[in-house]
Amino acid sequence: MPIDATQPYDDQNIFAKILRGEIPSKTVYEDEWALAFHDINPQAPFHVLVIPKGRYVSWDDFSAKAPAEEIAGFVRAVGTVARQAGLVEPGYRLLANVGQNGHQEVPHLHVHIFGGRPLGPMLAR
Ligand code: AMP
Repeated sequence: MPIDATQPYDDQNIFAKILRGEIPSKTVYEDEWALAFHDINPQAPFHVLVIPKGRYVSWDDFSAKAPAEEIAGFVRAVGTVARQAGLVEPGYRLLANVGQNGHQEVPHLHVHIFGGRPLGPMLAR
């Protein structure tokens, strides 16, 4: 079920548990600001999620409340993960689902990085 993007942060969400090391993930990158790991149900040959280490429900929450340093660190981490995976030359797609219409399922901000094949039109019609 999609989440409400205006809900308060829930420390029991699955990505909070991954950040605390309570459940495993296939980590591909970590720095002061972000953690990146393989999606458990990949939709493309390369499908990695990048999450901020801070407690942000969604892109809305993060863009409104995060300090500039944290936003810069997170955005740079997303770029670094894609670059290190060799995705820049062939190209890739970023996606951040927000709330009900965006079909966001996990209430901790995550940016999907898709790559490894031509990804087709932007949205299903
Ligand atoms: P979204 O619909 O944007 O909220 O996407 C949530 C994503 O999290 C989906 O692509 C799931 O496959 C993925 N996911 C859920 N649980 C895990 C997990 N434990 N480890 C890695 N990815 C997960």
